[in-house]
Amino acid sequence: MGTSENNEEILRLTSENLKHKQTISYLSKIGQFSYKITRNVNKVSDLTEFCKIIHQELMKIIACENFYIALYDDNRKEFHFPYHVDKYDKIDDDTYMKLPGSLTDYIRRSGKAMLIDDIVEDDLYQKDEIVKMIGEPTSIWMGTPLFSAEENVIGVVAVQNYEDKSAYKEADLSLLKQVSRFIGVEIELLRAKQNAEKANKLKSEFLANVSHEIRTPMNAIMGFAGILSRSVLSLEQQDYCYIIETNGQKLLDLLDDVLDLSKIESGNVDLKIEEVDLKPFFQSIFFNFTNTISLDKKESIDIVFSNKSPDIKVYLDPKRLQQIVDNLITNSIKFTEKGLIKFGYTIVNDFIEIEVKDTGLGIVEEYKDKIFEKFYRIQDDRLSKNGQGLGLAICKSLVTKMGGEIWVENNDPCGSSFRFKLPYRPVESVKSSDIKNNTEVFEEYQKLDFTDKVILLVDDESINILLLETILKATNAVLISAKNSQEAIDFVLDQKIDLILMDCKMDGNSKAGIYATKEILKHRQIPIIMQTAYVNGIELEAMQAGCVGYISKPINHHQLLLMINKYL
Ligand code: ADP
Repeated sequence: MGTSENNEEILRLTSENLKHKQTISYLSKIGQFSYKITRNVNKVSDLTEFCKIIHQELMKIIACENFYIALYDDNRKEFHFPYHVDKYDKIDDDTYMKLPGSLTDYIRRSGKAMLIDDIVEDDLYQKDEIVKMIGEPTSIWMGTPLFSAEENVIGVVAVQNYEDKSAYKEADLSLLKQVSRFIGVEIELLRAKQNAEKANKLKSEFLANVSHEIRTPMNAIMGFAGILSRSVLSLEQQDYCYIIETNGQKLLDLLDDVLDLSKIESGNVDLKIEEVDLKPFFQSIFFNFTNTISLDKKESIDIVFSNKSPDIKVYLDPKRLQQIVDNLITNSIKFTEKGLIKFGYTIVNDFIEIEVKDTGLGIVEEYKDKIFEKFYRIQDDRLSKNGQGLGLAICKSLVTKMGGEIWVENNDPCGSSFRFKLPYRPVESVKSSDIKNNTEVFEEYQKLDFTDKVILLVDDESINILLLETILKATNAVLISAKNSQEAIDFVLDQKIDLILMDCKMDGNSKAGIYATKEILKHRQIPIIMQTAYVNGIELEAMQAGCVGYISKPINHHQLLLMINKYL
């Protein structure tokens, strides 16, 4: 080969090499951009914030100080600007505009990407249709359509430069066209996520409302059934009372489960982390179960709290922990004919491991994961028909939210062992002698005496007042009642009152009790306990308004008396 041929060959290879390099750099820019925005779409839920990230990432590959994204709203027939940054023209985020005859609209309708300078603009204006650049005149403008996954144009992304006519070339347009493919699909994904979140929120609100509407009449039904069952009744009547109470409770449990799961799933559950003395905490669970277990099971099942469980104080959410343990023990009772239910906890590495084991039917290997799914129940005639298959799904969601894990193993020689572990965050060790025994607490409650104390009962439903009067009669307190906020305020100004039991929703106003609390506390410092039938954050508002506590309907008699005792 001669020298000139050699030189030609070298030139050809160099130019090929250069082309390869350019292609690699081009592809790597697109790759990096798509990686960054795909990663971010899972992290953000706000469209403007997401568009800002797109802009920042785009700036790394194309000079685009002036940038906007306009999404077309088919219902309004308008463009929505979630994000717009421009040296001269100002459009606020989230503005809607019609933009007829604009380049933006032209790109949307034609589905074509365009690089526009003065000449092209004039051309367009003359031969195509009336298309004009709107806003401050610019040197060069580049816009591409945004496509959905189904290839529909959902909007436009545009950049422009006011000073340099040669700021963008065909290669930049091709790059913008490629990355716009990702932008369109990711924006569509984010909007679908937003819609799902909105629907979830609506569902939660709807459920909270339904819950309120059911709980209010249930309060009266359950309250009076309880009072009735404690009066002198024939055996047949006692049976009827029992049926009303147990079925009422089932309805409430189901309502709680559905609500709870929907709240956890939509991320609406905030953990309330507190210091918890684990041993007394579990002893109280033990006490609750040994006192409430039905008579037939009491004779055939022993419930044992393992005394090997260490005396430790930890940080966690006690209400949610109790909910999980209660659920597991309730299941063990339900699925165990006779034998032993034993529960306790140990520390394993950096985790508290809690176990509830029984000598019941046990769980066949193939169902060990499935039972933690929503509405899953093992079809077996020997198993209890009660339940909805939500308990373990709730346990799993809660344990996961607390940073732990839950699983089931076989118990030796029979039955199952449900275990879950939670991160161990110790406070300090505590002495068991410092802990008040639960039996003592229970006995205290039975001899409560509020003689000479005046309690104001505020409720617009006379049936609820009657229920509270019946519960509180034995305490000898002086009971007065008001049927709305104004009456309650007048009472407070007029006479001595030691404590107020305030209903939250009165006369159709869901926050009437909050308003009355605030008004009353302006005049006098009286402990106010709010009665709520809501499950949705109203408790927090009640506490912020100055209530000392709240109690949810249907009212638990013991809990109510203990709470009143605390503040009288
Ligand atoms: P439910 O108890 O309302 O049916 P769960 O979600 O609590 O719902 O439980 C799902 C299923 O797991 C139960 O229906 C039952 O088949 C099985 N299961 C749960 N706990 C136990 C247990 N301790 N022993 C045997 N089977 C159990």
